[in-house]
Amino acid sequence: MEQYFFQTQTEEETKKLAEKLALLVKPGDVLTLEGDLGAGKTTFTKGLGTGLGVRRTINSPTYTIVKEYTGEIPLYHMDVYRLEESDEDIGFAEFFQGEGVTVVEWASFINDFLPEERLAIEIRRKDEYTREIVMTPMGEHYEFICKELYR
Ligand code: ADP
Ligand code: MG
Repeated sequence: MEQYFFQTQTEEETKKLAEKLALLVKPGDVLTLEGDLGAGKTTFTKGLGTGLGVRRTINSPTYTIVKEYTGEIPLYHMDVYRLEESDEDIGFAEFFQGEGVTVVEWASFINDFLPEERLAIEIRRKDEYTREIVMTPMGEHYEFICKELYR
């Protein structure tokens, strides 16, 4: 599978990349975010929210699993870290097929529930400020998005 590599040196750059991505996604899109604690998954999601026209402050939904934000396109922000030991379906499909864009932090914990077509994003912490962001499109729609982002 083809991968697309990006590098950022600041939190702002990561947000900007996510903002650009926000201009390319459509309702019903699913983005997964992997990376260690402190890699920048929530930071990326904040940028995405800005790009989608979300006005409320986005912060980690650790205690709720999913938070919904109103925007030009709604944003469904999931952090499924707490589901690591469970195989509980909290109604994921309704979000994935909904009117919003879904972002899933720690998505590998709910692998069985993820749609086949999605954009897999991995954030690798290289040093305190440098991040390598690797995007793996799963499906033609996401392939197109990655190519546009890369230009
Ligand atoms: P996660 O959700 O993956 O646990 P957060 O987004 O909450 O991570 O935290 C990332 C932390 O790394 C923040 O404190 C942010 O300021 C810092 N940071 C430093 N450089 C970058 C960068 N290039 N991109 C994103 N975050 C960065
Ligand atoms: Mg987080």
